[in-house]
Amino acid sequence: MSLFLEVALPVPLRDHYTYAFEAKASESLIMHDDQQEELKQEAKQRAKSPQIGSRVVVPFRSRELIGIVTSVSEHCQYDTSKIKPIIRLLDQEAFIPSELLLLCQWGAKYYHHPLGEVIQAVIPLRYREGKEYEADEVYTHTPEGKGLPFEALKRAKKQQEIHQYLLEHTYISPQELKSRDFSSNAIKGLIDKGLVQQTALTTSTEIEANKDLLKEEPRTLTDEQNIALQQIRYHTYNCYLVEGATGSGKTELYMHIVARVLQAKQQVLVLIPEIGLSPQTVKRFRARFNVNIVELHSNVSEAARARNWWQAKSGQAQIVIGTRLASLTPFKNLGAIIVDEEHDRSYKQQDGFKYSARDLSVFRAHTLKIPIILGSATPSLESLHNAESQRYQKLVLSLRAGGAKMPEIKTTDLRQANLVAGLSQNSLHQLKQTLENHQQVLVFVNRRGYAPALLCHNCGWSAQCSSCDMRMTLHNSPRHLRCHYCDRSTRVPISCPSCKSKSLQTSGYGTEQIEQILAAQFPNVPVVRIDRDSTRTKQSMEKKLLVGESAQACIFVGTQMLAKGHHLPHLTLVIVADTDQGLLSPDFRTLEHMGQLITQVSGRAGRGENAGTVLLQTHRPDHPMLQILIEQGYAVFARELLTQRYQSNLPPFWHMAAFRSESKRADNSLRLLEQIAQILQRLSHGVDNIAILGPHAAAVEKINERYRFVLQIKSASRNNLQRVLSEAVKEIDQLAMSKRARWSIDVNPVEM
Ligand code: ADP
Ligand code: ZN
Ligand code: ZN
Repeated sequence: MSLFLEVALPVPLRDHYTYAFEAKASESLIMHDDQQEELKQEAKQRAKSPQIGSRVVVPFRSRELIGIVTSVSEHCQYDTSKIKPIIRLLDQEAFIPSELLLLCQWGAKYYHHPLGEVIQAVIPLRYREGKEYEADEVYTHTPEGKGLPFEALKRAKKQQEIHQYLLEHTYISPQELKSRDFSSNAIKGLIDKGLVQQTALTTSTEIEANKDLLKEEPRTLTDEQNIALQQIRYHTYNCYLVEGATGSGKTELYMHIVARVLQAKQQVLVLIPEIGLSPQTVKRFRARFNVNIVELHSNVSEAARARNWWQAKSGQAQIVIGTRLASLTPFKNLGAIIVDEEHDRSYKQQDGFKYSARDLSVFRAHTLKIPIILGSATPSLESLHNAESQRYQKLVLSLRAGGAKMPEIKTTDLRQANLVAGLSQNSLHQLKQTLENHQQVLVFVNRRGYAPALLCHNCGWSAQCSSCDMRMTLHNSPRHLRCHYCDRSTRVPISCPSCKSKSLQTSGYGTEQIEQILAAQFPNVPVVRIDRDSTRTKQSMEKKLLVGESAQACIFVGTQMLAKGHHLPHLTLVIVADTDQGLLSPDFRTLEHMGQLITQVSGRAGRGENAGTVLLQTHRPDHPMLQILIEQGYAVFARELLTQRYQSNLPPFWHMAAFRSESKRADNSLRLLEQIAQILQRLSHGVDNIAILGPHAAAVEKINERYRFVLQIKSASRNNLQRVLSEAVKEIDQLAMSKRARWSIDVNPVEM
């Protein structure tokens, strides 16, 4: 008997592929009675048919590909003689659980991305290559080891350390053994004594359910936290928007919610924006919970990713903490999702499958009938709008948990100011005073490198990237010019390449330069720079932040990496060097981002005993939106922006999608979008409230030798927009021009 399988393949094509599967059931099940039971069982196994979600190896053109079965049927709508059989069935059970497959299918449809590629994005590499999960060999206590009193090993300190660890964690992997600097001799010693054994990590090694879930006493919640916690209902869908001021105890609230879900023996997914930016969140969860917490983010090795993914799928991991990609993890029994800093743009994938991890998670919580908690001090306008229209339930934490006051925000006028290191005399004065009081200062500059431009004072030449429409940034350690768009770097010329004059000058300030100047001005105070260049390695960020833990004067110079999540109790002054960047850009989201960034950066100040101050350096101290933000706070600022968005038919009131094209030839790139615009116009003819904008050149027209254009479409109706888009992508695939320029579609774009 033949079964017909629809298979999602890792190819950028929207078609469905059908293959045949010959069930060998009849032949292999006819057996003689005298055949061994074992063989019979084996034959039955073999006779099993593929399931939805199984991996299969199939012929595709002249290659073999591994795909995922998305449907199984006894009938086929095509000429069955043309259907090829699969080559091999890899899984007799669903490899991708049906719930995750549904999420993929929804995502593919919503973002108009080929399903095969979406599924690809979900599966760790080794499984995509057809490999199986190999249980890790780990060390666990033997029964004797488990019962051994701690003091019994007091003569063998190193063995005692491992014993202690195993009492707390149940097992330790060889990698963990290394990364914690435990001695391999000590583990051998424990094995020789019959206290420790090496076993495969399986569900039975799983943390015992009766063990105490908590490692530390949770804090007593504040009234506001308590009220919020009481609102959450479990085992049913609800989206909660926690609008909690910086330092109001959102993380503490999350941990209380997590504890309840764990008690119900369910798993939790915690999403954080970028791992380098939130190592403290992971640390706090590990310090609180006595369960298997796994991480999924770009710092996790491919092998560990495959293991953590498997542990989530099999239920062995109780908590998964990770970035955007963790939102696509399979779970056995997911009980709640938490999205921290929900406004953060890093939740939106910018290339390939352009999904929003936050929005996918809301869909997922809805289908799983579980609560999802979005938290932020500065919620996105989308989420605020959803809360206003009763789709999300808003929970407010307005006070700082430890009793600290919110910082005072002031402007400092840059017009006619004398600048040192990009700082006004007023800023410098306050900086000095803060240091004299043995407190800490953060100078926030959203530019890494030494200077954003190198210019010739004689002829006006400037260092441009040869591949992009961009000035190159001067870096000093090591000294070179670098393009921040394509990452190309060159040597720094000694004289002007155009007029040979020696009068090359830098213009503007980056973190490196401000660090250098401040270090020279305040030689007795540590100056710590935190940006992408200074924190390349995994732990360097945490190490650098250690200075901040002791009560001593110090200056942090940092980019937006420092804006988020960090708790620096002795920081009392924040100086935002270039506030105006956020007031000038043509992108309609810029003001929203500026408000979020300023509020988040300000939130670093005054989290301890001493009140904080924030100085915004600006040429536009009387800008009305800046005034609202300073005097009335983010909530009022956001409300005002929502009114503006409403009046201009912009998201979240209208729904938007962007088509982008790029090609080495500008005319191909533009012509493709012109043709797409025509298709969209035709398809939206007679549809109310739909508008097409463009095509026009992208904000940076040339990047990496490719010319980029953008076309936007927006509509008051999500359904109408989606209908036009689904029709359009089919037609675009057929355009001859679409072979000459690369194009992509971005639903709910966050960057233009
Ligand atoms: P957020 O995530 O909103 O920035 P955190 O959860 O990091 O806030 O809390 C800020 C500070 O307040 C932390 O030092 C935290 O330990 C402390 N804190 C949080 N909740 C409480 C509480 N209920 N009682 C005392 N301190 C608290
Ligand atoms: Zn010159
Ligand atoms: Zn470049």
